[in-house]
Amino acid sequence: TSNVTSSRSNTPLLTNVKNIIAIASGKGGVGKSTTATNLAVALSKMGAKVGLIDADISGPSIPMMFNVEAEQPSIKQVDGKNIIIPVEQYGVKLMSIGFLTPADSAVVWRGPMASSALKQFIGDVDWGELDYLLIDLPPGTSDIHLTMVQTVPVTGVVIVTTPQKVALGDATKGLTMFRQPQINVPVLGVIENMAYFTPEELPDSKYFLFGKEGGKRLAERFDVPFLGEIPIVQSIRESGDSGFPAFFKSGITENAYTSLAESVAR
Ligand code: ADP
Repeated sequence: TSNVTSSRSNTPLLTNVKNIIAIASGKGGVGKSTTATNLAVALSKMGAKVGLIDADISGPSIPMMFNVEAEQPSIKQVDGKNIIIPVEQYGVKLMSIGFLTPADSAVVWRGPMASSALKQFIGDVDWGELDYLLIDLPPGTSDIHLTMVQTVPVTGVVIVTTPQKVALGDATKGLTMFRQPQINVPVLGVIENMAYFTPEELPDSKYFLFGKEGGKRLAERFDVPFLGEIPIVQSIRESGDSGFPAFFKSGITENAYTSLAESVAR
């Protein structure tokens, strides 16, 4: 699809990857990694070949969300060059800085080092043929975002936000950044996470803990698709902690992530 080349090797990168989809948020803690995880497994369940790069270099949570914290990618030599074989779980190929650093260690990296880690995850990993390579970005706007767009042709970005004011403000900045001429990545849409809470004993009620329809209004304001809302569900939080994605549990969460995957695949 592209002739983008690595500055080091001058070989085309990710030529066997059909779509590169970034998952971004303005604020941290809004559920970006949770969304990336469940989107990845939902796309894989639809029959797509999927990879996921955890580009949240200082707070990598993908290994935990996929229950592969103890795993380490293996290395093979190709033409004298070290190539990393991604870890695979639930049908998704994974790469994260978390695989390369001891658990609980804090990664304090300057921008250029974090950027070179992302370049390595793109250029030195044997991704093979993929329909989708998802990139879970750090929150906010950073060097990593710039590195990503300068390194590979990004198909589009999904913006994750909660409906609350502070998250929306940051999401607005993120959205604006992707539209800047030097970035210029199509926004595939906005997904509203933690949209409401429904207690088990009151199945017909919705409590809008973080405000109502903020993500929807953001999508309308920027004239981008609204990709739907995901409620606050205890099992989503538990799934993240236990490493068994909520998508695999039947019901509301499976449906929400399936429809997100369908909109991204469209
Ligand atoms: P981010 O990547 O934006 O920092 P995470 O995906 O790590 O956010 O989510 C932050 C916390 O919120 C995690 O503990 C996660 O399990 C939880 N969480 C995310 N989305 C939901 C949801 N819809 N319902 C309940 N808990 C959620």
